[in-house]
Amino acid sequence: MAIVGVLALQGSFNEHIAALRRLGVKGVEIRKPEQLRNVTSLIIPGGESTTMAKLAESYNLFPALREFVKMGRPVWGTCAGLILLSNNAVGQKSGGQGLIGGLNCTVHRNLFGSQLQSFEAELLVPEIASSEGGPETFCGVFIRAPAILEVGKEVQVLADYPAPSNGLLEENVEEERRVIVAVRQGNILATAFHPELTADTRWHSYFLKMADDTGEEALSSPVAIPVD
Ligand code: GLN
Repeated sequence: MAIVGVLALQGSFNEHIAALRRLGVKGVEIRKPEQLRNVTSLIIPGGESTTMAKLAESYNLFPALREFVKMGRPVWGTCAGLILLSNNAVGQKSGGQGLIGGLNCTVHRNLFGSQLQSFEAELLVPEIASSEGGPETFCGVFIRAPAILEVGKEVQVLADYPAPSNGLLEENVEEERRVIVAVRQGNILATAFHPELTADTRWHSYFLKMADDTGEEALSSPVAIPVD
């Protein structure tokens, strides 16, 4: 059985816990490195990635989070969570920020613009629809949303979307350019939008299947989480 942790430093962790509850699963709030020993999978919510990174730094969570990902434990990042899981982030307002990394991609932190440019869009996600059934499309809630610009060969693209024409991408990009908004790389699932803010629990049930696949094995070999 999988035990799902939800990083509860900032952002939409309560909404993820509520979505899990609708599927009959209790999400465990994670704020300290040693708490990662007690869970077999982890959701990193949306919010504000620089704030989350600063809090993770002050709680000394980065080494444990990196180890958790490296151990192959299922991890799902939504929005700010996607940014934190990326190996490379661009589009920061000032300087860099701490990243957990593991997901071989380059993400633009705010490609879809500010709060005012937040939007909802129907997305085609064949992988999740064929796994979970139901309608072919998913409601993507994009809030100050990032987008993935480049992925490594090992990354499976689950959904893409037309790039916004707001001048944030380098000049002379073709009109029709699309950017990536959902991916899976082995144990890592990442979405630029917020399934936890919709009534559709198919993303959560897909992640629970990923988590169940490795849950048994994970429980029998607990992670040696570095706590200092
Ligand atoms: N773009 C935001 C950031 O940099 C993420 C927005 C979100 O999580 N809704 O953290």
